[in-house]
Amino acid sequence: MNYVNRRILLAKRPSGMPEDDCWKNDEINVTDIKNNQILIEVQYLSIDPYMRGRMNDGLSYATPAKINEPMTGETAGIVVESKSNLFKVGDRLCIHKGWQTYIVANDTDPTITKITNSDIPLSVYLGTLGMPGRTAYFGLNYVGKPKPGDNLVVSAASGAVGSVVGQLAKIHGCRVIGIAGGHDKCTYVRDVLNFNDCIDYKQGDLNSSLKKVCPDGVDIYFENVGGDVTRAIAPMLNKGARVPVCGFISQYNKKDMLAAETPFDVLKSLPAKPYHRFFVVHEWLNKFGLATSKLEKLVLDGELKYKETITDGIENAPQALRDVLTGRNFGKQIIKI
Ligand code: NDP
Repeated sequence: MNYVNRRILLAKRPSGMPEDDCWKNDEINVTDIKNNQILIEVQYLSIDPYMRGRMNDGLSYATPAKINEPMTGETAGIVVESKSNLFKVGDRLCIHKGWQTYIVANDTDPTITKITNSDIPLSVYLGTLGMPGRTAYFGLNYVGKPKPGDNLVVSAASGAVGSVVGQLAKIHGCRVIGIAGGHDKCTYVRDVLNFNDCIDYKQGDLNSSLKKVCPDGVDIYFENVGGDVTRAIAPMLNKGARVPVCGFISQYNKKDMLAAETPFDVLKSLPAKPYHRFFVVHEWLNKFGLATSKLEKLVLDGELKYKETITDGIENAPQALRDVLTGRNFGKQIIKI
């Protein structure tokens, strides 16, 4: 066998928005696999906001991406060669081994998730049925603790995490308000995802729009963006409110992360602090299978809808990451290899 593995390596750490010179392309030949190994042909690469944080060399809950190694990322693909008893040629799986087009992996690699359901497109296992979907499921259920009748607001509402949060919260009987950037995203959130309403934070006065659509205040704010949006919602939080802090993307490109304003700065300054905490999807590693199968059933039943922006070509991954960091994606950002 002889496969050419095209890779994108991290070349240097960015300051602010990552420009093209932060990465370099290379190619290596894959000629052999050993016993208990598989060769995976990558079909889709997931582009996620956390990648920006991994490009830094600072203190974080996750290890920084290494210079001269494939840029961190999860992919979905198909086994094309196997010397394993656990996988056969044609098996579908997800694996977290970075931006590359062929992957040699040990068959017990802990980052592998085998995909057995062939009724759903593989790319969806990087979004609604993958890490972002599970993030929504755990953050909402275990930190947000939704009850019927709760008023829930979620930011980045049309995106990979936010779209799942809002739809699950509707199933729990909450009244769900999305916040998203632009008319098209808000229309999609209202009309397709069926949220009760959606506010375009780029138009008009966010404070007065929020007061209009949340006359009874906010019981759960699912935090994805930070910044102005957090400052507008904070005073509207009711007694007993919960704020799962999932992320704060508006701050990820700050040159000095230690000086960036976090949602904790805003929430801690309130006279009555809501219950709030940062969570990471991996806290519930032992429940990944359970969450994925519940979400899978909802997708198959048509109760959980998803949208993807699929960009062709691994060489476009850097621009796709910039798109996610500036809101040019619409739904889950995927690269098709
Ligand atoms: P999305 O698919 O929602 O894409 C990111 C979106 O963020 C953009 O489309 C844009 O939506 C919004 N955005 C970008 N820049 C800004 C800005 N400056 N101000 C406000 N909004 C902005 O991404 P994900 O669903 O994958 O991720 C959402 C959040 O969840 C991120 O903060 C991410 O870091 C976090 N996350 C956390 C995890 C955890 O374990 N804690 C795991 C996975 C994700 P719009 O156009 O609507 O503004």
